[in-house]
Amino acid sequence: MSKILYISSEAFPLIKTGGLADVAGSLPIALSKQGEEIHLLLPAYPQVMQQVENTQQLASSHYYGLDVSLLETHLPNSDVPLWLVNCPAAFERPGGPYMDSDGQPWHDNALRFALFCQIAVDIALDRLKLGWQPDIVHCNDWQSGLVPALLASFKQRPATLFTIHNLAYQGLFSQQTFTDLELPGNLWQPSRLEFYDQLSFIKGGLVYADRINAVSPTYAREILLPEFGYGLNGLLQHRQARLSGILNGIDQTVWNPATDPHLTANYDSHKLAQKSKNKTALQKQLGLPVDARIPLVGMISRMVEQKGLDIILGAMAEIVNLPIQLVMLGNGETHYEIQLVKWANNHPDKLNVVIGYNEILSHQIEAGSDMFLMPSTFEPCGLNQLYSLRYGTLPIVRNVGGLADTVVDANDLNRKSKTANGFVITEQSAEALLTTLRTALGLYQETAAWKKLQRAAMKGDFSWQRSAGHYIKLYQQALSDRDQAVV
Ligand code: ADP
Repeated sequence: MSKILYISSEAFPLIKTGGLADVAGSLPIALSKQGEEIHLLLPAYPQVMQQVENTQQLASSHYYGLDVSLLETHLPNSDVPLWLVNCPAAFERPGGPYMDSDGQPWHDNALRFALFCQIAVDIALDRLKLGWQPDIVHCNDWQSGLVPALLASFKQRPATLFTIHNLAYQGLFSQQTFTDLELPGNLWQPSRLEFYDQLSFIKGGLVYADRINAVSPTYAREILLPEFGYGLNGLLQHRQARLSGILNGIDQTVWNPATDPHLTANYDSHKLAQKSKNKTALQKQLGLPVDARIPLVGMISRMVEQKGLDIILGAMAEIVNLPIQLVMLGNGETHYEIQLVKWANNHPDKLNVVIGYNEILSHQIEAGSDMFLMPSTFEPCGLNQLYSLRYGTLPIVRNVGGLADTVVDANDLNRKSKTANGFVITEQSAEALLTTLRTALGLYQETAAWKKLQRAAMKGDFSWQRSAGHYIKLYQQALSDRDQAVV
């Protein structure tokens, strides 16, 4: 058993912008169930404070001239202790964790997350006298990237693991910010935190963590290539011996079609007929023609380039002529939102676009759709294809990252060997997307074959239990690497 400080800038159900929240809300619980002693550290955003109860102040301090206190409560529906970094000047504001209500990054993000890292370092070194010091500090994405860098020079320090959920987001700021944050001067070097004249938070994790992992084995290999490495592939190659991939799990209680409270009809692989009631309800709710025979394709996504919006828009003129309905839920870059809404207004019987973030509707789309579209240009792990598999909603995905690790194309060979569970687009183009979509539509007409694929999809084990076991092994490796590290 180890003591683990798990640091994240978001955690479901308290605050969520993407997959990191799902992981941070599930993995600590799974680790705790396997006997690890884990504390989750999160900023005390207002959305979080509204949902937690019985907070107690454990410590208080000052960082960058700001009052900061550490509060203790529990991650809802679990025994996992949750420590909240309460700094009203940094975190108590409307809008999201990283951006204001207009979608602009907060002007002081560097300061906000630097102080988040500074208190994590103080906890890790037991400077706050909490009576609890971690053996392992598990950092996630750039917001906690400074922690391994700031800990590295201490002889008596916990081991560090840095998990890459998305290498595209790096926390880049000016050299002046580096100075303002009073970071140790020797960290300003290209081999350390400097990245082409900028301060890179993520490099703190990539350069200094005892172990690094990405959230799928394929993504862990892809980021060694210039195509996926965002300029960090050289550094990652250098640290390749310390880099591995662990596939995310899913919260099988939140995402379970047999018990999901948001569905019109619950179902499992033996009661697949019930699934169509959810399709009817979704068609009604969104004002689409109600017809069980029309294949319904769902998509839930941040509307950003990564998610393949360009090839979807490139194929849209053909998609609206196919005998399908397409339902899209998401928000993101305005130019994508505007184009999609325009297409939807011109083809209201074929395409329904809901702009916004809607947890309940996302469950209803997963259950009510026949297929799920996810043509990402890159995908560190991807969660929606996993939810789709569990809901018998066959995913149509690009063969990248975690999508490649979890979706097996329904070609003849894979269907014969009963491994097929979805459809794979082999190239990032509108033509390739349309070809795969047409293949899926063809197979949809073969009811028995389709049911087989649905059952195979629903059988997959993407539980956190399995992934948590891999993390426990990785913690042990991080501890042994730390012991061999030269300070
Ligand atoms: P990423 O982290 O890159 O956004 P993932 O597939 O790993 O992608 O995780 C995205 C998570 O956010 C999923 O749980 C997905 O259902 C959810 N999500 C994304 N956009 C929305 C939305 N508009 N409404 C509800 N849930 C959403």
